[in-house]
Amino acid sequence: MSEEHFKNVISHAKEYGFVFPSSEIYDGLAAVYDYGQNGVELKKNIREYWWKSMVQLHENIVGIDASIFMAPKVWKASGHIDGFSDPMIDNKDSKKRYRADVLIEDYQEKYRIKNQKEITKAKKRFGDDFDEAQFVATNPNIARNNAKIDEIDARLKDGLESGELHKVKELIEELGIACPVSGSKNWTDVRQFNLMYSTQMSATDGESQIYLRPETAQGIFVNYLNVQKTGRMRLPFGIAQTGKAFRNEIVARQFIMRMKEFEQMEMQFFVAPGEEQKWYDYWKEHRLKWHTNLGTNPAKYRYHDHVKMAHYANNAVDIEYDFPFGFKEVEGIHSRTDFDLKQHEEFTGKKLQYFDNERNESYVPYVVETSIGLDRMFLVLMSNALEEEKLEDGQTRTLLRLPAALAPYQCAILPLTKKDGLPEMARKIMKSLSLDFNCYYEEKDSIGKRYRRQDAIGTPFCITIDHDSLTNESVTVRYRDTMEQKRVKVSELESIISQEVSMKKLLQGLM
Ligand code: ATP
Repeated sequence: MSEEHFKNVISHAKEYGFVFPSSEIYDGLAAVYDYGQNGVELKKNIREYWWKSMVQLHENIVGIDASIFMAPKVWKASGHIDGFSDPMIDNKDSKKRYRADVLIEDYQEKYRIKNQKEITKAKKRFGDDFDEAQFVATNPNIARNNAKIDEIDARLKDGLESGELHKVKELIEELGIACPVSGSKNWTDVRQFNLMYSTQMSATDGESQIYLRPETAQGIFVNYLNVQKTGRMRLPFGIAQTGKAFRNEIVARQFIMRMKEFEQMEMQFFVAPGEEQKWYDYWKEHRLKWHTNLGTNPAKYRYHDHVKMAHYANNAVDIEYDFPFGFKEVEGIHSRTDFDLKQHEEFTGKKLQYFDNERNESYVPYVVETSIGLDRMFLVLMSNALEEEKLEDGQTRTLLRLPAALAPYQCAILPLTKKDGLPEMARKIMKSLSLDFNCYYEEKDSIGKRYRRQDAIGTPFCITIDHDSLTNESVTVRYRDTMEQKRVKVSELESIISQEVSMKKLLQGLM
């Protein structure tokens, strides 16, 4: 996939009512976006797929909906006031600001691409006999590239963890990394920028500074005891939450990939100390399955172990997706130890412990977190689904091959003409199908044009009502992906559509 494809995704998202720049009539607001009439449906369906897979399919996971505003001390305890920052570097010629670690990671990506090319070449040469694992383990070029990647990883980690940011700048200079805009290597020093937004809250005793939450996780931690006690939860158990988070991303770019206001879907899984590795492995595997279960090519996903561990984690991996601009994080799985609950114990003076009957002792649970950005997932689906398909007659059609259960509309109801009682019959069908599905009604323009508009927003089924329908209670069903058309009875519609679009079918893939 190319940068060209990415541009198409952005313009398609706007043209078809998925994503608009925020406050566009005021020339927009950088890195803030609004979801339009189709985008909001797709987003809601992704959220529902996540929620059901977590809460409905796991009897030991429950949900909450905590506030965006929290007591300011929460962020002191969590480490965000002191430590939630990104290492930034400016190019003196273009005046552009970059995340230093991202510049270095992009540089490393070149070695990964080189490796991939070696593999592709060898695959061609050896054909069916090709043993990829063995080739990767023994090829000297790949070994050299991997050694280079590891060496850079180690130096980046050292610079970031020691806080000696001059080492990170030296690494950028040594690698000869140039500014993608100016092409120059004239860099400032690397500095840390805090990512939290703050505002004022009035109280009887004056004003206090409070923060817009930069992650939803802390809302879960501060409610750990409430949920555990009122829900009589036994370990291991999880608390899930979806909601807005805010980060003052200095380098906001790549559309909805990196926004200042975005939505997270997080789940904190509380386990007994010593059990965290087992559950980390479980969630790592389970979450990847959630992604590939959507029918995306598994080769487009990979795990990426963290080099720079967050201050709270003892194990962390990203699930990355091959976006049009390369592999980037969609989701993080973090083993957060007992860090957060212990910090909240210390800052509140309250016990946040669990009494384990079997071990006959109280302890602070360990936590394994899964954290996915809803907007990034939206981008995964849009960039994976958008396709210019060449048809047999030489024409092309724009198609959004979204997973059927997540499409904004499940079916479109299209009377062939605006007269002869066809709209009335169509409305009747619409009224009954609307109880189960989100239906789109349209009677304007030729049927061919209407089909194309539905293809472009990903509607899996078009139902056409024609003159024969009036006499024999049958309609034509057209399938989005194959364009196949079938004559079916009106009474069969509900079962035909629900077989394809049901969330149930999608969830079954996870069982
Ligand atoms: P990155 O390294 O890309 O900044 P992160 O490691 O800071 O991401 P986490 O703090 O682990 O991200 O947040 C969990 C998830 O939230 C990420 O996997 C991503 O999908 C999403 N996310 C984080 N920051 C943003 C953002 N600015 N815009 C959109 N989604 C985001």
